[in-house]
Amino acid sequence: MKIAVIGCGYLGAVHAAAMASLGYETIGVDVDEAKIERLRRGEPPFFEPGLPELLRAGVDAGTLRFTTDVAEAAGSDVVFVAVGTPQRAGSDAADLTYVDAAVESLLPHLAAGTLVAGKSTVPVGTAQRLADLIAPTGATLAWNPEFLREGFAVEDTLAPDRLVYGVADGDDAAVAALDAVYARILERGTDRLVVNYATAELVKVSANAFLATKISFINAMAELSESVGADVTQLADAIGLDARIGRRFLNAGLGFGGGCLPKDIRAFQARADELGHGETLGFLREVDRINLRRRDRMVALIERELERVGGDRVAMLGLAFKPNSDDVRDSPALDVSRRLQEGGRVVRAYDPEARETALRVVPGLEIVTSVADAVCGADVLALGTEWQEFRDLDPAALAGITDARVVVDGRNALDAAAWSAAGFRVIGLGRPEVA
Ligand code: NAD
Repeated sequence: MKIAVIGCGYLGAVHAAAMASLGYETIGVDVDEAKIERLRRGEPPFFEPGLPELLRAGVDAGTLRFTTDVAEAAGSDVVFVAVGTPQRAGSDAADLTYVDAAVESLLPHLAAGTLVAGKSTVPVGTAQRLADLIAPTGATLAWNPEFLREGFAVEDTLAPDRLVYGVADGDDAAVAALDAVYARILERGTDRLVVNYATAELVKVSANAFLATKISFINAMAELSESVGADVTQLADAIGLDARIGRRFLNAGLGFGGGCLPKDIRAFQARADELGHGETLGFLREVDRINLRRRDRMVALIERELERVGGDRVAMLGLAFKPNSDDVRDSPALDVSRRLQEGGRVVRAYDPEARETALRVVPGLEIVTSVADAVCGADVLALGTEWQEFRDLDPAALAGITDARVVVDGRNALDAAAWSAAGFRVIGLGRPEVA
């Protein structure tokens, strides 16, 4: 089987490497020459655990190739479309220009027997429009949304919770083609749901809307906890023990960010507006607002502590939007750092992997290469991303290299008792201060 993957970013590069690891002759296509050049050498253009090994194995075996020439996708059995669908400038809606351009560029290279399988996250209605566009070529379209989590992308691609195929009514050939591609994954008993286009598109955005809502729900509880002296972590533990609720995604803190949840809930709301259902999804605006208010709260807490000690130097631990990733798209930690810096504070940040990506977004930010460098000379410490490296820090050792005696834990991830024993005041989000 021959596979092509159009778009080799966080999703597409992993998908292409995973397809090659399943034994298919795979070609990854991207318009970004520099990215393709790195991928050709077997080097991932971003940090993702497990990807370097997978990529190198495919490239060395000759089953995985990369190109900027979309014509090389011709003759593929399945062409996955994995290009970006970011937020449109000046609007909440999804920018579909990349998806449209990718499909347009494919048209001369499609033929009967080829299945185009969309993986990008798109507004409901997109798949039908694209199916109509490619119909004259004889190729057909399926929508096969992707649920991978950055930081676990390889694992999630090769061992997903479920596979969803959105296909045209009665298109058994599309189902058979996707079943063949995913045969080794399906053999393990993975759930696979065959639905229509609109359902497949909605499955993806509604899953993200649900997750975002769960996070903002607990962050709203954190906001209340702060004013009444409750502890949101204990609250989450208590409600999370109810099997109907569940403890996952109930970690209060600085909120969600990244290249998916924020733009996906905005695009979902924008699409609902277009469809005359704005009110139906109106709560998503509130979910977004609650999320963004946590960043304001973190900035305010750090400012308050700086005032208290009469200093202006902040050590920010973490810049990526989540641990195990170098992705800083809409990163809460980077946003807080930038705002403090714009407010005249001196921020020294450290992140195990997101140095380069963060510098591209906030070029003036001082990003050092170790925790020690970040905390040395700081007045206030702040945790922005819950990397394991930060959870494992020895606060007693840190106390010896910094004069700061307060840490604002934006992820409620530090062992407050241990930090307190080492002489730090620990200020979490939604939790009483531990002195
Ligand atoms: P990304 O920005 O990392 O990658 C997109 C890639 O597409 C870029 O390398 C870009 O150069 C390339 N591209 C743009 N136009 C192209 C064209 N015409 N032809 C070929 N390549 C082109 O984005 P991403 O994070 O990989 O996300 C891609 C899609 O997957 C989005 O719709 C996103 O919502 C969805 N998604 C992402 C994740 C995730 O965790 N990153 C998870 C699930 C779904």
